[in-house]
Amino acid sequence: MAELQRPTLCCCRKALTVPSKSCDGGRPLGHCRLVDIASASNFHSFKLRHFHLDLHLNFALKRMTGWQVLELLPLQPGLQTLVLDTHPSLHIHSVDCKVPGGGGPDAVLPLTYRVEPFTDYGASLHVSLPASPPLRPHRAFQITVRYTTTDGPAIWWLDAELTCGRTRPLVFTQGHSVCNRSFFPCFDTPAVKSTYSATVRVPEGVTVLMSASRSAYSKQDRVFQFSMEFPVPAYLVALVAGDLQHADIGPRSRVWAEPCILTCAVSKLGGSVERWLGVAEGLFGPYVWGRYDIVFLPPSFPIVAMENPCLTFIISSILESQEFLLIDVIHEIAHGWFGNAVTNATWEEMWLSEGLATYAQRRITTEAYGEAFTCLETVFRLDALHRQMRLLGDNNPVSKLQAKFEQGVNPSSLMNLFTYEKGFCFVSYLSQLCGDIKRFDSFLRAYIEQFKFCSVVAQDLLDFFLGFFPDLKESCVAQREGLEFERWLNGCGPPLCEPDLSAGGVLTCPVQRLCEVWGGEDPDTKTIATFDLSAWSTFQTVLFLDRLLDRSPLPHEVMSHLSRCYSALLDGMNAEVQIRWLQIVVRNGFYPDLPRVRSFLHKHTSRMYTVPLYEDLCGGVMKCFAVEVFYQTQARLHPNLRRTLQQILFQTSSASPATTAPPMLTQAPTTTSPTDPPANGTIALRDVNVSA
Ligand SMILES: [Zn+2]
Repeated sequence: MAELQRPTLCCCRKALTVPSKSCDGGRPLGHCRLVDIASASNFHSFKLRHFHLDLHLNFALKRMTGWQVLELLPLQPGLQTLVLDTHPSLHIHSVDCKVPGGGGPDAVLPLTYRVEPFTDYGASLHVSLPASPPLRPHRAFQITVRYTTTDGPAIWWLDAELTCGRTRPLVFTQGHSVCNRSFFPCFDTPAVKSTYSATVRVPEGVTVLMSASRSAYSKQDRVFQFSMEFPVPAYLVALVAGDLQHADIGPRSRVWAEPCILTCAVSKLGGSVERWLGVAEGLFGPYVWGRYDIVFLPPSFPIVAMENPCLTFIISSILESQEFLLIDVIHEIAHGWFGNAVTNATWEEMWLSEGLATYAQRRITTEAYGEAFTCLETVFRLDALHRQMRLLGDNNPVSKLQAKFEQGVNPSSLMNLFTYEKGFCFVSYLSQLCGDIKRFDSFLRAYIEQFKFCSVVAQDLLDFFLGFFPDLKESCVAQREGLEFERWLNGCGPPLCEPDLSAGGVLTCPVQRLCEVWGGEDPDTKTIATFDLSAWSTFQTVLFLDRLLDRSPLPHEVMSHLSRCYSALLDGMNAEVQIRWLQIVVRNGFYPDLPRVRSFLHKHTSRMYTVPLYEDLCGGVMKCFAVEVFYQTQARLHPNLRRTLQQILFQTSSASPATTAPPMLTQAPTTTSPTDPPANGTIALRDVNVSA
């Protein structure tokens, strides 16, 4: 009952004195304010109607130069300052202002400005607004910022050698969570959404793509034009430019990639994407973004995939692992509804995007591939959640769905499996409360319709849930049973309950049985031979290997036996399988299979397939081997990854991953490069195969 008896909360999570006057998803009415401590901007004081970028890309200098025009409406009289998020790597040349005059031509006024430090992931740009002509509330004015960006956290310049084709350089941006303030000055908070447009000028032979709903190209001028006609938060503005070609794979989808991998990418996805979109629309209502395209990026892409609207960014390294590719693309499709159409208003509630997207992803895979497959994938991921839980302990605050962080903590460092999987379990709990999965689908459809293109907090979702199921609310009151929303949101530790995954038994039971065989004193060769791993799915195999990894170090005889049974077989499988086997090899110090580790690290240059192995190598007795391989391969690694590996190899203590310190809710160490995901001491995306 505690939950139902609480006063109605505003989106700022403060009690409302006048319940009907909520602040409407972050738009303030004066009585409360949504606080985003990751933004230095005064976004509450303005409405951002639209912004335009005009950029020239210089690959030789690794610079973007141009200007940005912001169309703003003051929300109150007498505003003297506009504060935007920016970054020390972004150099401001000038700021001016165009204010509608009284009948004559609009006055263009140069403005004074100053940049002040904010945190290690950004700075603040303070612009002094003109006193005359005065800015009137709700009357639009324009601010133009001329600037140059270099190599800030959002912008990844790749020399030709780091691309798949190794013939031309490439650049991409990655805004999540708070990086885009180094791409353009902005209200860098997910609470603010606006439309945007862009003009991008590039050298000949370069193709530019953006997360936009419309695009056009003038070959003569080598100018690309983009327009995003639906409002998006700053972190979802994304750009990639390089030697990219496309092939259509459906009526509203195309795959973009470097020419050397395009055929492969098309063959892996052709026909599927439209089917998945259709299933998702059947469940959650129309896909609102028009196009759903996918661009494959070189192995330097720092995460697995990113849900940039209209254009998912995904790492090409995942192409060989078909089931992971499938899950990752479906997850990004699910973000079209959960995360992109309806967005978490602050980074402290990232589960609103990730937990709901993970739930939606599993509803799609259940419809498209059946319950058993979906349950297997869920078991595999919940195993990983419990592994993370064991590392962190039950009382670690990062296990809260509503994380609280101090100013200075980079929100990206709080992205962890709880965001995804505890969030998923909470959404599953809501679905169980309403008693019927189809009724819950219709609730989610209504939720999207209600909050489309807005940013929300958990209370918005929960109020809407109880409003949608009034019988549930009433029966809870009648039975004096409390709903446990508060414990779910603010309690540490594992999910309060997990969904029933017994439908996955047909796929998970063989894995469980084989684990038991290998857990015995003297694993019986004949029994082992009855399990045909070559016929297993990737998720079965990785579940088996993860559980062996959890038990490592294993007795030497068992390790030798495992190697005899599986090493050659697993070596021919995909990278997701291989890396797990090789981690077992390393954590057990099993030298006979070390050449396989070497060849894997010579082949793979992505963060997700190198960092875990290097950490294990340095945590054990194989540090010299790791150093040798690093020197042999470093020329093909992105400088940011090289720096991370150097930290692992030369600067950090030799703590093994099993004893790595839990993430702390404190300021990230300043020795870490701003472009690096957190190194030891925090849980990084790489540890959990997170698709953003
Ligand atoms: Zn996601």
